[in-house]
Amino acid sequence: MDAIRRVKRDLVIANRILARQDVLDAYGHVAMRHPKDPARFFVARSLSPAIVEEDDIVEFHLDGSPVDPGEKRPQYLERFIHGGVFEKRPEAMASLHSHAEDVLPFSISKTTRLRAVIHTIGEIGDAVPTWDIRDKFGDDTTLLVTNMDQGRDLAVCLDCNRMALMRGHGFVAVGRTINDLVRMAVYIPRNARVMMNAMRLGEFIPMSKGEIAARASLDPEAPAMKRGWEFWAREAGVGHLLED
Ligand SMILES: [Zn+2]
Repeated sequence: MDAIRRVKRDLVIANRILARQDVLDAYGHVAMRHPKDPARFFVARSLSPAIVEEDDIVEFHLDGSPVDPGEKRPQYLERFIHGGVFEKRPEAMASLHSHAEDVLPFSISKTTRLRAVIHTIGEIGDAVPTWDIRDKFGDDTTLLVTNMDQGRDLAVCLDCNRMALMRGHGFVAVGRTINDLVRMAVYIPRNARVMMNAMRLGEFIPMSKGEIAARASLDPEAPAMKRGWEFWAREAGVGHLLED
C-alpha cells in the first residue's frame, strides 16, 4: 500500500481507538507527520474522532494552512498545536491533543504534579510540564491554541518531554510512531485515575527516574508494544483497516 494511504488509514484507526478509549470525546484530535515531507502533516477536518473516515484526512503545511488551496471544509481551530509540535520536535511522527477529564485536575493544581505511577506510562517522564496560555497571551484568551505563535509557545513548554499539560484545558502528547503515541495516550487518563485514587489513601510511590528511563528505552514497535493497537482497533470496529 502507498505510504500516504497507510498514514490516512492509521490516522482513522488512531481516531477510532482514542474515541473508544475515552481519550478523545467529541473534541480533541490526533495528527501524523507526512512520511516523506517533514514540513507537512495530516489531521482530520473538523470532525469528532469517533466518526473520522479516510476521506476526512487533510494534509497541512506546518503553519496550519492546507496543502490543497481548494480545501474549503472547516478545520480544527487548534491544528496549530500539531504544527508547533512537529516544527519543534523533528523526531516526533505523531501528535495528540486531548481534554480527558481525569487529567484536568493536575493541570490546575498548585500543589500536586502529575507523576508516572503505573508501569505502562513511564514514557511521560519524571516531570510533566504545564503550559499556561495566560503567561504569554494574557487573561482574555479562550484557552484555545488558535494561531502559530501559541502553538510554538506550547511546543517550547513541551520541550523534550512526551507530554505537557495545558492549564484548565487538557494536554498535548507526542510519539515516535502512531502506535507509540496511541498506546501511551490510552494509559494517560488511567495513570491519572490511579494517582488520584492513591492520593486518597495517603502517600504514594511514583516510578523512579531509572524505571522511567528503562520504559522509555523500549522499542515502541516491538510485538508486545503493538498488541494494544491491534486489539483496540478491532474493538473500535476498524480492524479491517489494519491489513495492507
Ligand atoms: Zn483543546
